[in-house]
Amino acid sequence: MNTLSESVVCPTCELRQLTSPVCRRCRDELGFTYMEILLPSPENVFGTIGAASVRKFVGGITRGLRTRRGYSQSKLASAIGTDRTHVSRVEGARVLPSLLMLLRIAMTLGVDRVYVRIRGSD
Ligand SMILES: [Zn+2]
Repeated sequence: MNTLSESVVCPTCELRQLTSPVCRRCRDELGFTYMEILLPSPENVFGTIGAASVRKFVGGITRGLRTRRGYSQSKLASAIGTDRTHVSRVEGARVLPSLLMLLRIAMTLGVDRVYVRIRGSD
């Protein structure tokens, strides 16, 4: 779902380029170019189901980005200044990382934008 035409940094060779499926220099898959947390409705912000779904989303995208980048949980943990247990708990949707930790995860794994959107009821 690449609806945004902004630049992205290749996680492999670090070339900055326009968003596309593969890197124009090393041909590696660019994969995720940004992290977007989309909440279907305002109710998701307040309900317990909403909180669980945000944890699940953030955990899933963290695991997806980490494995695609070839990082172990320990390597990611040391890069973002925490321990492996915390990374495991984030990926397992047991805890939501702090905003600072989320930004560190994103930047370490080659994503330089994090969007949070709340879709109104329609
Ligand atoms: Zn590249």
